Amino acid sequence: MFDYLTIIMVFKENFSIKRINTFGVDAKSNRYIKISKTSDLINVLKSNDLPIRIVGGGSNVLWTKDFNGLTIHIANKGISIIKETSKKVVVEVQSGENWHDFVIWSINNGYGGLENLSLIPGYVGAAPIQNIGAYGVELADVFISCSTIEINTLKQKQFNYSECNLDYRDSIFKNENKGEYIITSIILVLTKNGFHKLNTDYDEIKSIIGKEMPTPKNISDAVIKIRLSKLPNPEKVGNCGSFFKNPIISKSFFKKLKSRYHEIPNYTSKNDVKIPAAWLIDNLNLKGYRVGDAGIDENHALVLVNYGNASGKEILKLANEIITKVKFVYGIKLIPEVNIW
Ligand SMILES: Cc1cc2nc3c(=O)[nH]c(=O)nc-3n(C[C@H](O)[C@H](O)[C@H](O)COP(=O)(O)OP(=O)(O)OC[C@H]3O[C@@H](n4cnc5c(N)ncnc54)[C@H](O)[C@@H]3O)c2cc1C
Repeated sequence: MFDYLTIIMVFKENFSIKRINTFGVDAKSNRYIKISKTSDLINVLKSNDLPIRIVGGGSNVLWTKDFNGLTIHIANKGISIIKETSKKVVVEVQSGENWHDFVIWSINNGYGGLENLSLIPGYVGAAPIQNIGAYGVELADVFISCSTIEINTLKQKQFNYSECNLDYRDSIFKNENKGEYIITSIILVLTKNGFHKLNTDYDEIKSIIGKEMPTPKNISDAVIKIRLSKLPNPEKVGNCGSFFKNPIISKSFFKKLKSRYHEIPNYTSKNDVKIPAAWLIDNLNLKGYRVGDAGIDENHALVLVNYGNASGKEILKLANEIITKVKFVYGIKLIPEVNIW
């Protein structure tokens, strides 16, 4: 398939994906290649005739079976400032950079905008796929564009902000253009000292910062502290963070739900209401529920975990059981945030 002499990259056959997914499940990919240069990526795509899967940090995918195709691990690195004024910087980051390392780079340089997104696992290239978000901020708040390669035509295309349709844990790359483009870099705009727009809306962040003046650094430190105390470390217990999206329901349906569950938390906007999926699951006393090595985390009802040797199929079975129970009791259909493969 490939010319082994001209392509000097990590190429493997019958590859175990256990070490490239944070759930730590095992399955085989017929072929695997790790690519650090966009030009190599194009060469590989040119000579490939197998189905393709793209992975970064593997922190948002659940492999449920072997893959008879080519898994491409994106590893191109580099951060460059492409424009700078007294108020802001425009930065281009290559897809294979680790997201959190990039956030720390921005904070060490005094730039603002990414602090609330500290410690989200994974690579930069996946960030637009589900418009990553945490603690009141999402990628969309700083996003300008991304560069891509269209898998079928090998043409390079830039998607600007509005073309990406970034929404709550969603984008064009999870819908109309699912599986069609490889993101090679993203461009973001960050603020400089004196022009930061810091978000300390979350009570937990406020209480850690206390009376200190908020800065990108102390917000990032607070977010890291909160996340370390709440979320299981994938290096110790396999997981992909939140397994389900928070459901968004109509105001009239919420009214009915509220009459049955007075204490139900909610984030009401002009047109609809977002309900924490964690509350729906926790209220069914499912925290800590376990079937073999697949379970629901003891501290966080939204996080499904692999206690050791669970297969992707077993974790998916547990997820489906939760979906059925939540639908039966509340009439709400939970949608997975994690990509099921
Ligand atoms: C402990 C924990 C906490 C988390 N907390 C959060 C959180 O607070 N907020 C949040 O939004 N997410 C969170 N996540 C989910 C996850 O970290 C993010 O979705 C992250 O952006 C996934 O990056 P990745 O590189 O691991 O993507 P992968 O899992 O490798 O891939 C995810 C999807 O993106 C596609 N993809 C990856 N790279 C590319 C590329 N270069 N071009 C095209 N497609 C690509 C893949 O094909 C796949 O469909 C958490 C996960 C864990 C384990």
